[in-house]
Amino acid sequence: MNFNLEQYSKKINKSGAAGKLLESITRLCEKIDKDRINLMEVCGTHTHEIFKSGVKAILPKKIRLRSGPGCPVCVTPDSYIDGAINLAKDKNFIVTTFGDMLKVPGASSSLKAEQNAGADVRVVYSPEETLDIAKQNPEKNVVFLSVGFETTVPASAFLIKAAEAQELKNIYIYEANKTVPEAILAIAKHPQVKIDGFILPGHVSVIIGVDAYKPAAAASAIPGAVCGFEYIDILLAINSLLTLIYEKRPEVVNDYPRVVTAAGNRAAQSVIAEVFEACDAEWRGIGVIPGTGLRLREKYNKYSAAEKFADIIRPAGSGAGRIEDQAVKNGCRCGEVLLSLIEPPECPMFAAACNPVNPVGPCMVSSEGVCAAYYKYGAAGADIEL
Ligand code: SF4
Repeated sequence: MNFNLEQYSKKINKSGAAGKLLESITRLCEKIDKDRINLMEVCGTHTHEIFKSGVKAILPKKIRLRSGPGCPVCVTPDSYIDGAINLAKDKNFIVTTFGDMLKVPGASSSLKAEQNAGADVRVVYSPEETLDIAKQNPEKNVVFLSVGFETTVPASAFLIKAAEAQELKNIYIYEANKTVPEAILAIAKHPQVKIDGFILPGHVSVIIGVDAYKPAAAASAIPGAVCGFEYIDILLAINSLLTLIYEKRPEVVNDYPRVVTAAGNRAAQSVIAEVFEACDAEWRGIGVIPGTGLRLREKYNKYSAAEKFADIIRPAGSGAGRIEDQAVKNGCRCGEVLLSLIEPPECPMFAAACNPVNPVGPCMVSSEGVCAAYYKYGAAGADIEL
């Protein structure tokens, strides 16, 4: 597949700070005694900026930017999507969700398809909107699909606390939240994944702080750089990672100090800890990673849709508790894409049977998905509005 990324690199002003960083990156590359330097951008927003800006096109060939599993929708397993669809199909329910969940295919349907068929599925921009929907529909069970990393978990926690304070009896969340640092350690230790440094997500880091990554960096001996979302931020993080690799220092640096601190947002951490506790979580295509999930604490468990409506989410005979992935059965290789074991064009369905209009797997659906980024900036050689 012919990728025309040079067209995007015209946006980068190489005579300014970007040029100086590129010179430094090139010098460090020459000094590092490796044929290939694999850097993983964990976050899907970084992946899209890397393509959009043309960063990939201007880096020394020795550097390989690998995309990671930092798209919450992409790592949400089929079993969860099917459970959400089962809730939506029940006339006693209203399902609220962020928009990027709508088109993710489950085993035989999607929330969008069910919405078109009459299910009451409502897109919200904040979980808080679910409160008004619940008040306006007291005869319905209203379930928010709580999918996301640490960035959005505080909003789910506030929703639960508000429901408790307002004594709302018809509001629930269906939990599928995940945490990033433990997942990074799991990727670092994966026997098939070879990564030399991690470009870490700025928005997650606003909540958890830079220090949260230090145990993973120490345990894996792989450095990390917390990074903002402009191309200059990404170049800065690459320069930091190469410095740490060259100096053999598996540390975590903060290249986004204008918004990220060492300790993170204590108030947000506090509300998360009050409402949620750690649990194991299933990641699509990767499997169960211990300690990377969040479930409601016992005090708030009455708001858990998974507990209250287990028979609707997993009806008898549906293979309750199964871990399966229909997209994988269909030949989708999202799991390998999310671990960066392959690049999307290596999937036989990329840009053929699988495209943004008819996605086979979630990596093609989400605005943060890796396959969507490759399609948008590579498949047709032009910027395609998704
Ligand atoms: S191109 Fe489509 S089918 Fe292939 S891995 Fe990506 S989402 Fe899955």
